[in-house]
Amino acid sequence: MDEQLSIRSFPRAIVHFDGDAFFASVEQMLNYKLKGKPVVTGKERNIAASMSYEAKRMGVTRGMTVQEIKKVCPQAIILPSDYETYSIFARRMYEIVRMFTPDVEEYSIDECFADITGLKTHYKMSYEEIALMIKKELELRLGVTFGVGLAPNKVLAKVGSKWQKPAGFTVIPAKDAHIFLKELPIGKIWGIGSSTSVFLHKLGIRSALDFALKPLSWLEYHKLSKPYKEIWYEMRGEYVKKLVTETNDEVGSIIKSRTFTPATSNRQFVFSQLSKNIENACIKARRHGVLIRAISFYLKTQDFRYKGMDIELPVATCSPVEIVNVVSKYFNQVYSAGEKYRASGITLRSLIDQGSMSLDLFGESHRAQNSGKIFETIDTLNHKYGKHTVFLGSSFTAMVEKQHQGDRGDVPIRKNHLFLGESARKRLDIPFLGKAH
Ligand SMILES: [Mg+2]
Repeated sequence: MDEQLSIRSFPRAIVHFDGDAFFASVEQMLNYKLKGKPVVTGKERNIAASMSYEAKRMGVTRGMTVQEIKKVCPQAIILPSDYETYSIFARRMYEIVRMFTPDVEEYSIDECFADITGLKTHYKMSYEEIALMIKKELELRLGVTFGVGLAPNKVLAKVGSKWQKPAGFTVIPAKDAHIFLKELPIGKIWGIGSSTSVFLHKLGIRSALDFALKPLSWLEYHKLSKPYKEIWYEMRGEYVKKLVTETNDEVGSIIKSRTFTPATSNRQFVFSQLSKNIENACIKARRHGVLIRAISFYLKTQDFRYKGMDIELPVATCSPVEIVNVVSKYFNQVYSAGEKYRASGITLRSLIDQGSMSLDLFGESHRAQNSGKIFETIDTLNHKYGKHTVFLGSSFTAMVEKQHQGDRGDVPIRKNHLFLGESARKRLDIPFLGKAH
């Protein structure tokens, strides 16, 4: 019964995470002296970009000039933006959420979506409990609070994360969507801009529910384009707007990449990270029933330079073993000893339907397809017993090594240990390592 109710309420379980007053909160996190004080960032542009809740309570709003801020809140601490540090926190946020589910959309510097559909059996928890668990982990590890919404789709999850502030958690099952939409002006819905909002007002739409209750023919009559129809479907509880968890180009490709911290020159480690990316990308390829004819792989250096290679595969395949073998042949042309790397990535290209495979000489494709079958079995095992129950030997270091000179994003990290990049670490040293002032 509970299961049935849950399927009806969450045919998909989408969570939206939104950092509260993110930039200002990061500043407060990095300097305890700022805690509890009205902090505003954006000094370099003379405009408030982000305000702590203390500043908001004093009447500071986004876009105010420094002069205006000083008028309403003379004690405001106005700081220049430090985007590098904020983006390190953003990366951490994505990586923490990815410890719980691979399906994460990096929506913006302080927001992401996660698809946790089907993870209830894995975690033996309800969707609410899973979402709350991720929220707690984010808040514990980043020291920033998050507004979190759990819903059957992105539009409603966004409504949820904004519902209570700060540190809110709002669950919107499909069957209750109307309760929330009734109270929400249409212009507050994600994707409804001010001109559309004015247009809809003229047609008598006030609340989001007014819009959701219109029939589809009404939308068509008023020539509302596809993005608005998608919003309309989602307000009615359907899942239409897919998560963008990787980039898909027009011919169709699958991309998996992973940043590791700190940067490393350990060849085995870098290769195993790449191998793991390949495994994950192939899982996706098999899920979509496609074979891969070409790949690109790259390594990204500590100072953000990319080096990579494009390779045509001898036979179309969906087997990570075949691809890891090919990559291992060329790896040394990309990797140079002594260079420090911060990320690796793989793109599977020239994808074709498994069904459309034509016969080739020497039965090569037959062999590749057979090893594809082995991986289908592995997929079943992994699905049954948890992701990465079975994995390639070449991914071993990435899968098993618990610590790599401290911490990495893709293994559970020690509690209360912040894992940050160089510049942020410099800033962190003062307030966090317990030095006397
Ligand atoms: Mg935010």
